[in-house]
Amino acid sequence: MRERSQPRHRGPSVNLRELRARIAHEAARLMTDSGLRDYAAAKRKAALRLGVSDEAALPKNGEVEEALRTHQRLFERDAHPQLLRALRETALEAMRFLSAFEPRLVGAVLDGTADRHSAVCLHLFSDDPDAPARLLGERGIPYEAQQRRLPTPQLISRSSRMMSCVSRLSIVSTGNRCSARRALHSKTCSDKQTKKTLNCAANHALGSGGKVGSVRTTFGRSLLVIAHPGHELRLYGWIKQTSPQVVFLTDGSGSTGVSRFDLSRDLISELGARVAIPGKFPEPELYQLLLRGDTAPFVRLADELAALIRDENIDTLVCDASEGYHPAHDLCLPLARTAARAAARPNIRLYEYRVIGDPRPEEGDAIALELDTSALQAKIERSRRYAAASGSVLSQEVQYMFDTFGEEAFSYEVLRPAGTETPLLQDGLRYYEVRGEERVRSGRYDKVLRYREHFAPVQAALEEYAA
Ligand SMILES: [Zn+2]
Repeated sequence: MRERSQPRHRGPSVNLRELRARIAHEAARLMTDSGLRDYAAAKRKAALRLGVSDEAALPKNGEVEEALRTHQRLFERDAHPQLLRALRETALEAMRFLSAFEPRLVGAVLDGTADRHSAVCLHLFSDDPDAPARLLGERGIPYEAQQRRLPTPQLISRSSRMMSCVSRLSIVSTGNRCSARRALHSKTCSDKQTKKTLNCAANHALGSGGKVGSVRTTFGRSLLVIAHPGHELRLYGWIKQTSPQVVFLTDGSGSTGVSRFDLSRDLISELGARVAIPGKFPEPELYQLLLRGDTAPFVRLADELAALIRDENIDTLVCDASEGYHPAHDLCLPLARTAARAAARPNIRLYEYRVIGDPRPEEGDAIALELDTSALQAKIERSRRYAAASGSVLSQEVQYMFDTFGEEAFSYEVLRPAGTETPLLQDGLRYYEVRGEERVRSGRYDKVLRYREHFAPVQAALEEYAA
């Protein structure tokens, strides 16, 4: 605020520039990691993650593109040139196949920012908007039709052909040129700017990488430790299959002031599982304990968990992954690990699941449960019902998740061995610290909850208790 009313030399513009760069890099990271293709969605999601609501801080597409190049130079130095070459060969093959429509290569494969998630995008020119689709049909190439609005008519770059049509074709390579997945987007050149998209069915499998199967792992007697009521929706199928006991760290009353515990208790019992410890702390109290450095209640909870593990002969512990998104989420793993050690059950299996991140399997994921269509529909319908009952904030978040990853992505329920590294933002901070800084600036919070100052002491107290 002070900086706005008393502009100093380079002050506000430098801040804004830094913020834009940070959002651009976070958007690039999201695009690379999760396969998100839409620049606008990546920017919005990155801004949300960084707790930035100022539209002026959103970077231009060119800035995100530059950040993508930097990311690739740093992290994919060896593999990227090969990948790009393979994609361009796929493009060439497709352009030959579609030569009747004068194809032009566009997008990430052309500008060199393509990654393993990228589709090959071609613009096709034709007087008949249905001709490219007809050709795919004749050759037995599967596709699916969608309608999409085209933001600008400038795709039609050749004025002499204003009455012709531009089609956009996306080919998603599986790494094998012969089995390239094809998606066709076509736009009729009417002033309605309606884009007709033909999208291939194989697109749905994006990100699966062939690692997913219906895994029949025996979990034995399981205990699920989650921070907020509502997280259990992510493991809807697994809970139904395994009937774990469930421990809630808080009542989820953070953003609304209203507990979500009753909603979750109903859901848990509907799935045939049981709540072992209900929302231990009201959300604001948990924050206050952390800020005050009051570690004793967390040690007591670990002790309670240890007793539960012993009494119930728990074989498998599953908890929220430490994604750096929320301190309550990140507390679940140290609590679970401490309790397992204190219970003196060295063979207990400890898994984590992503609460915020992409639900689809990634390298290193141990167990993937794939829901069939009806189970997925039930999960989606139940998620919407839960969100609607808990108010508009969660409804928006649930919708945002479906929009970002696609509903299909939630057919995967992935567990991985606990303890993967917490993702840090560029300056080594966790997301909740950056969001805290924003909220202190906007006057919503008095104090930023810091990892080193507030979270690490709890971790240390838990370790000391387990030792
Ligand atoms: Zn949460």
